[in-house]
Amino acid sequence: MSADAYDVVVIGGGSGGLAAAFRAAGHGAKVAMLEPSPLGGTCVNVGCVPKKAMWLAADLAERIGLASRMGFDVPAEPALDWAQLVQRRQGYIANIHASYQKRLDETGVARISRRGRLLDAHTVECDDGTQLRAQHIIIATGAHPLKPGIPGAELGGVSDDFFALQSRPARVAIIGGGYIAVELAGVLRALGSTVALLVRGQRLLGHFDAEVSEQLAENLRLQGVELHFGCEVKALERQYGRVRAVLQNGPEHVVFDNVLFATGRAPNTHALGLEQVGVVLSEKGAIEVDAYQNTSVPSVFAVGDVTGRVTLTPVAIAAARRLMDRLYGGQADARLDYDNVPSVVFAHPPFGTVGLSEEEARKRFDKVTTYHSRFRPMLQALGDGDVRTVFKMVCAGDDEKVVGIHLLGEGADEILQGFAVAMKAGVTRRQMEDTVAIHPTSAEEVVLMR
Ligand SMILES: Cc1cc2nc3c(=O)[nH]c(=O)nc-3n(C[C@H](O)[C@H](O)[C@H](O)COP(=O)(O)OP(=O)(O)OC[C@H]3O[C@@H](n4cnc5c(N)ncnc54)[C@H](O)[C@@H]3O)c2cc1C
Repeated sequence: MSADAYDVVVIGGGSGGLAAAFRAAGHGAKVAMLEPSPLGGTCVNVGCVPKKAMWLAADLAERIGLASRMGFDVPAEPALDWAQLVQRRQGYIANIHASYQKRLDETGVARISRRGRLLDAHTVECDDGTQLRAQHIIIATGAHPLKPGIPGAELGGVSDDFFALQSRPARVAIIGGGYIAVELAGVLRALGSTVALLVRGQRLLGHFDAEVSEQLAENLRLQGVELHFGCEVKALERQYGRVRAVLQNGPEHVVFDNVLFATGRAPNTHALGLEQVGVVLSEKGAIEVDAYQNTSVPSVFAVGDVTGRVTLTPVAIAAARRLMDRLYGGQADARLDYDNVPSVVFAHPPFGTVGLSEEEARKRFDKVTTYHSRFRPMLQALGDGDVRTVFKMVCAGDDEKVVGIHLLGEGADEILQGFAVAMKAGVTRRQMEDTVAIHPTSAEEVVLMR
């Protein structure tokens, strides 16, 4: 069969794939992008975007409570029309789909609504048998949620199922202690569900700063989330239309309307023809790439979650853009620096972090100093809210270079980006201190930490 010829074929139209396609087309390359599902991948359809929409609704619910205590006349338990919320969320997502499609049309990227797999180092076969030849092939197939191999696991859902909910579940168990588990627990609790968070380990957010993560756990408790550490789920069983969790070291009430696993994600490398072509995978099944997103096959590259490296949307996008700048934009050294990537856990309030936790810093540097600010933000104080803010800065060396900033508090999601720029530029504690504060804000505490 004769094959259509392109400069680059991108497999996957999520965060990384779209960014690769747009940037390559911008450099004048002839591009095809394969995506069998709605455009935007995990982030747009079952990740960042619908998650943030639900977080915003949960945030409003909390603020309605504060408003009432500050004197506004609002009902004690304002009703949420969940279906309307979902409808508005999905309408927003439909607009993103339309705008991506428009951009693909405008930039001349051929969108092919098919799954693809590699036939050889320069040929992609679509699932209708069509073959595409390309000088370069970019794998951007993302990852999928995992369930543990326990009896009855099919009775539990994953984050994708959370977004499919059409009404509020009364009683939910969330299994896991990572950021997705924390975010789902916070949203469901704020929107009125009774939530148990069942965590196998002894703490939340294993890779984040322990001290700040502890405060986040305390905030969840104050908000009414039942937290159970050292709790292992052995099986799920059906009980009168609900789900019973068989637990080791768990809570007494173990029957839930919904059980959601947030127990990790695995790269989508299955049935892509990678092994036949010689693309090397890691033990966890991720595509091995070097600092330039090169795989072990010279014409094949990989970006985003499929590589298992810092699995965040802006990372997939930045890696893809740099790769295309290198391949088609005449920037021979373009590559993404994976250090000091800021990120936010959308808890209530959010937890933003960039750089090293105190624990990591102590492993890497002889001299580590830390600075803190703990306070109750003005709105919480005025509205008798309990939730505390903790800001923490980790510095290393005699010049006290800032190597980690961890902000748990209202506005942390918006505050952190600017400080991430400062850290990237090598800011020191002294320079932070020399910066005049903006008063009265929470952000000022970042430059006033003691
Ligand atoms: C609940 C949740 C919340 C999240 N929240 C955030 C957040 O707040 N901030 C953040 O930065 N990140 C967040 N993430 C992570 C973020 O969604 C991912 O890091 C990001 O989507 C990765 O982009 P990607 O391009 O690598 O993969 P994806 O976006 O997953 O895209 C991969 C695409 O490839 C397609 N595909 C797969 N196989 C094939 C094939 N054989 N042929 C053709 N196409 C194929 C898939 O259909 C999919 O559309 C969240 C993730 C989840 C699950």
